[in-house]
Amino acid sequence: MRAMLLDAPGRPLRAAEVERPTAGPGQLLLAVRACGVCRTDLHVADGELPHPKLPLVLGHEIVGTVAAVGEGAAAAGFRVGDRAGVTSLGWTCGECRYCRARRENLCDRARFTGYQIDGGYADFTVVDARYALAIPPGYTDVGAAPLLCAGLIGYRALVAAGDGERLGLYGFGAAAHIVAQVARHQGRRVFAFTRPGDVAAQRLALELGATWAGGSDVPPPEPLDAVILFAPVGALVPAALRAVVKGGTVVCAGIHMSDIPAFPYALLWGERVVRSVANLTRKDGEEFLALAPTIPVRAAVSPYPLERAAQALADLRSGAVHGAAVLVMGVTDC
Ligand SMILES: [Zn+2]
Ligand SMILES: [Zn+2]
Repeated sequence: MRAMLLDAPGRPLRAAEVERPTAGPGQLLLAVRACGVCRTDLHVADGELPHPKLPLVLGHEIVGTVAAVGEGAAAAGFRVGDRAGVTSLGWTCGECRYCRARRENLCDRARFTGYQIDGGYADFTVVDARYALAIPPGYTDVGAAPLLCAGLIGYRALVAAGDGERLGLYGFGAAAHIVAQVARHQGRRVFAFTRPGDVAAQRLALELGATWAGGSDVPPPEPLDAVILFAPVGALVPAALRAVVKGGTVVCAGIHMSDIPAFPYALLWGERVVRSVANLTRKDGEEFLALAPTIPVRAAVSPYPLERAAQALADLRSGAVHGAAVLVMGVTDC
């Protein structure tokens, strides 16, 4: 099968022909139909996250068709031909204090798809059937892929932000453009902060119902109740704290961020909260994939053929992606 391999951090992805994996006990073999390209993939490729499996197949927003069901995997309910989704949460121990407290996103021994486990930048992948999600009907393969990380992490971050009415989103890419739709559906007002001068992202935000869109270098037109930071830029943390009211929350939603500069305590005073969101639980997945079709959430997708995965990553890095970048299998030109 075809796979785009990361041989080592800092090296370009390499197109390779590799052996097709087989479904071991408890696993599903999936024919990959679409795989989202996430900023975490960039952090892994750049060596900002330690100890990836090498060589590695990136990708943790996978929509595939079940091609084989491993021994004992049928209990999860998937049959050959069904669609299944794979998220970053590839495996958890079920035994540590976090797993036992239903906080498997914090599992001490968790293993992540497209990082410690081969992911979806390939024609086929295998998944532990207990961690696969059913894809709601009404979504195309390509349209569903961004829901599996951008949508899910965005949803988890939105819950963590509390129920304030005025929500700021810093970094208006794949996750924010989905969260904006959920927040609008909940009756909130959305304030979108983009890279200064990124008119296309600001236009997308306004099309999706944002009250205001502007550069991250300017303050919002009114104080905010909560902010979610999707941009991996630590300098935005003090800016976001400055933008929220007393009691407001700043949620850092990325897996990696540049250092946060020192800031005066007065910015945190007034019971303002800074917190992160880490990974996701299967419960998040079930909740969000039940909610998304009722809104309905629609992802703006920039499709790329598998062979152009490196270009998709480069475009994500430079901010050239409109909405969510998604690799589409079986397509050679799009
Ligand atoms: Zn655990
Ligand atoms: Zn991701």
